[in-house]
Amino acid sequence: MQLKTKGIVLSETPYSETSKILNILSEDYGLIGVMSKGCRNVKNKLRGVSNKMNYCEYTINYKEKGLSTLIEGNSLNSFKNVYVDMKKAFYSFYLIDLINQVLKENNHKNIFSLLEQALIKINDGLSPELIIIIVELKLLSFLGVDLNLDSCVVCGEKKDLYTLSLDMGGMICQNCYQDGFVFNEKALKLIVILNKIDLHKLEKLEIDDYNIIDEIDNFIYEYYNNYTGIYVKKRKQLSNVNLM
Ligand SMILES: [Zn+2]
Repeated sequence: MQLKTKGIVLSETPYSETSKILNILSEDYGLIGVMSKGCRNVKNKLRGVSNKMNYCEYTINYKEKGLSTLIEGNSLNSFKNVYVDMKKAFYSFYLIDLINQVLKENNHKNIFSLLEQALIKINDGLSPELIIIIVELKLLSFLGVDLNLDSCVVCGEKKDLYTLSLDMGGMICQNCYQDGFVFNEKALKLIVILNKIDLHKLEKLEIDDYNIIDEIDNFIYEYYNNYTGIYVKKRKQLSNVNLM
């Protein structure tokens, strides 16, 4: 069966002297393993569409059993701003690896557009640090452990939310707070906003206070560590890589 679908290459493995096996996350058919025959040859037409993070309309000779074959790809966005900026590139590749891990737990159809939009927005110049947080928050619902950020997890109150509890997976109001860690007030406001953002509609996103981002980042890192089997990197770990 021949099919045509939007897709993003999540991983590539060299095969024989001239080919690669690709894992393509497709919009319509989920994750597809395809053989890209001859794509490592300089003159092969598949060469430019068979690399990790390539985003194309792919035509695939699909086999339900065994490996499918790539017929052609037409680039939808070359993400050229990402490739010339080390930070954007590291964040984008990190996102792809993160999504790859999550797909092993849940291969929900909507994960494609989450990755697609995130890469487009990073390429368009929106803050990669914030885009990563938005995606990490959204992925929690696919992992079945989303945070309750709208109301107090103890009493359900929507006002006077005071801090965020790692153990309880959500907000604690002023009345219910007893002791322990208090989340920075600005960070608390920002995480609520980020959690609600629709990436499709987002046109501008910048950071001015990196300490706030660090606080949210540390929280998400701990939360993933404790409640998912997924490995996430802290923003600082990503930034350190940039210096190499
Ligand atoms: Zn409460």
